[in-house]
Amino acid sequence: MVSKRCYELGSARSVIRELFEYGNRRAGEVGPERVYDFSIGNPSVPPPQAALEELERLIRDSDPLELHGYTSAQGDLAARRKLAAGLTARFGHDYGPDDLYLTVGAAAALCCVFHALTVAPGDEFIVFAPYFPEYKVFIEGAGAAAVILPPKAPDFQIDLDALDAAIGPRTRGVLINSPNNPAGVVYTPQTLSGLGELLRRRSGELGRPIYLISDEPYREIVYDGKQTPWVPDHYADAIVCYSWSKSLSLPGERLGYVLVGGQVTDHDQVFAAVAGAGRRLGYVNAPSLFQRLCAACDGLTADLSIYAENRALLTQGLGALGYDTSLPPAGTFYYFLPTLEPDDVAFCQRAKALDLLLVPGSGFGAAGYARLSFCVPTPRIRAALEVFGKLAGEYGR
Ligand code: PLP
Repeated sequence: MVSKRCYELGSARSVIRELFEYGNRRAGEVGPERVYDFSIGNPSVPPPQAALEELERLIRDSDPLELHGYTSAQGDLAARRKLAAGLTARFGHDYGPDDLYLTVGAAAALCCVFHALTVAPGDEFIVFAPYFPEYKVFIEGAGAAAVILPPKAPDFQIDLDALDAAIGPRTRGVLINSPNNPAGVVYTPQTLSGLGELLRRRSGELGRPIYLISDEPYREIVYDGKQTPWVPDHYADAIVCYSWSKSLSLPGERLGYVLVGGQVTDHDQVFAAVAGAGRRLGYVNAPSLFQRLCAACDGLTADLSIYAENRALLTQGLGALGYDTSLPPAGTFYYFLPTLEPDDVAFCQRAKALDLLLVPGSGFGAAGYARLSFCVPTPRIRAALEVFGKLAGEYGR
């Protein structure tokens, strides 16, 4: 006998992983150049050269016992000091090392926060569609329930009235992800200040804070000279989850953090509960070598200009083929493309028959769209446009 839920999670791959594995098999059959795989969000640019050099330097010059040893549970103090100073310099708020809990990527950061904030089974976290499907797994794994709100097409900003109606006595937190996977939307300062105002009012009525959990692995991947607004500027009870998976192109190295700023209500209790969740989940500490590396590389990013180039190429190329590219992604490396028929699963099946691998939007809670991960080499996008043309042709475009 095993846990039914764990068995299900372990034996059924996610739609995205399934498609990715299919792409690998198919590449073996027809050759990789004939498969146009836009399924998975694995960065396609290498980590910055300076980061790779720093990695070599750390391995060469550090005391190996210290470098590869356990760190304190919340992370190496010097690393947290450096990161907190970097956050303060960028965003203000006077962050300190005791506001930062270093984690095994954003995934672990989120799991720790959901565990920390779930007071009783069935407590609720509100999530806006379209959403990263693992959220439901993480929230339910903490014994809580995910309340999914429908997408607000076409701009995918927040429907504040729907949120107001969804908040109830069991609401513990609201989860946002901006820049958003899969929609590519970046919440505007107006959206965030409206959200902050609403949450302050409803927290006041409940007599306790509704925490806002901000999942930000794509914080630096924004276009047209814009910047991602800093969520704690708009709501004091915001807990930020971050990761270097995308910004430094280090997804396999697993490093991120939870930031519980000093302005968060019951800061010490919340921070201790996050650390306690990490303990309960058996994380011990985040990878020691990469704690040092990410702290040393604070402020650096991989060369994100390639994503901007891919985005421009898709906007122009797909637009010319009759696809709706009127709302290109403001951030991330995902295009959320309205499908050429209402049934997004049928559309993605037709694309798959042409070896064009797109993920149906309904897997993210938004039917009528397909997600296209454009973190691929630019020549692959040029080659794929021809296939997108064939697909559009099947719909008489
Ligand atoms: N949140 C979102 C929205 C993501 O897209 C991902 C990964 O793709 C994660 C969290 C998990 O990131 P990490 O690799 O840091 O665990």
